[in-house]
Amino acid sequence: MTDPRRSRKVVPSACPAQVGNGVEISSAIFRFEARPCKEDGQPVTEIFAFFLAPDDDDAESPLQTETFVVPAGSPISSLGLSCPPGHLDAIAAELRRNVLRCPCTLAGRCPALDHLPLLEAIEHAAGKPP
Ligand SMILES: [Zn+2]
Repeated sequence: MTDPRRSRKVVPSACPAQVGNGVEISSAIFRFEARPCKEDGQPVTEIFAFFLAPDDDDAESPLQTETFVVPAGSPISSLGLSCPPGHLDAIAAELRRNVLRCPCTLAGRCPALDHLPLLEAIEHAAGKPP
């Protein structure tokens, strides 16, 4: 039942990233991973990010973005591997904003956590002073 007096608060949609996995994204801890690895023998950098509940040290199902892989030495690879803390804060803030305004009602993956929004957040962060 909906209490009309609470209508000023934005009620989360059925977006799985907002209501799923028991993670409250507004207070979740942000983690960003960029690591060198190999794909088909080629050096690549694997990049993804996730949100963990603050009291959950070994979360089994954190809110995780889609992982993407870029060639080693590419601009995005360099941005990911040398991401300063100021950039990480900006990336986290952008991903949080994306998820909190996500209108999706998908049962599975939230498009706000696809690899493209993460890529954009990395690029936006790099365009700002750290
Ligand atoms: Zn969503």
